[in-house]
Amino acid sequence: MKRTPYILVIEDEAAIRRGLVEVLEAKGYRVVAVSSGLEGLSLAIDPMEPPQLVLLDLMLPGISGAEILQEIRRCAPQLPVIIITAKGQERDKVLGFELGADDYVTKPFSILELLGRVSAVLRRTNGVLDRAVSVGLVIIGLATVDFDQMVLLRDGIARELSVKGFELLHCLLRHRGKVVSRDTLMDEVWGQEAILNSRTIDNYIVKLRQLIEPDPNDPHYLHTVHGAGYRLIL
Ligand code: CA
Repeated sequence: MKRTPYILVIEDEAAIRRGLVEVLEAKGYRVVAVSSGLEGLSLAIDPMEPPQLVLLDLMLPGISGAEILQEIRRCAPQLPVIIITAKGQERDKVLGFELGADDYVTKPFSILELLGRVSAVLRRTNGVLDRAVSVGLVIIGLATVDFDQMVLLRDGIARELSVKGFELLHCLLRHRGKVVSRDTLMDEVWGQEAILNSRTIDNYIVKLRQLIEPDPNDPHYLHTVHGAGYRLIL
């Protein structure tokens, strides 16, 4: 199961906003478009439903696109951002890159150019996850996990998880989308350290589901594949 990439558009000019929505939706993306910078920022850094890409107009009333970009980089360093600049605003482009934009389009832009840049950035970042893994912060189901610090947040609160629990979750994440056998889990997480009771992995899976699933009894993310192992789907 592959989820449709969700693209957030922050643009105050109604005609451009509508045009972007139309073009991106026609291409099969899921689009949320807002005119307010503050609303856009809160959607961009929403840990429960992060976009895979943000299209950000730099010239916004109130909070500026540059301020939004800075805040996104602080709260969601892994989130790809394409800035939209007006023609002739070369300074904006430079500023945007300095603040960590991934790419830019200059108004007026062609649809083909825009779609090309969107799909290139999405391809390069492979959604939010691969980059997030490299900075150590990953959203897994309802949890936000910092593997470097071994912190797991659920509803903004740090939850208990043992080192082996983190290692098991990371192993499932490395193999996300694929079935991982119990042997592989045992090998990659426990290695030669211990001879495990087969219930041990089951107990960890139960624990992980309590942490990441909306309903641990009806898993959305961490699935049991009977007779084969487990599969994490994000
Ligand atoms: Ca504008």
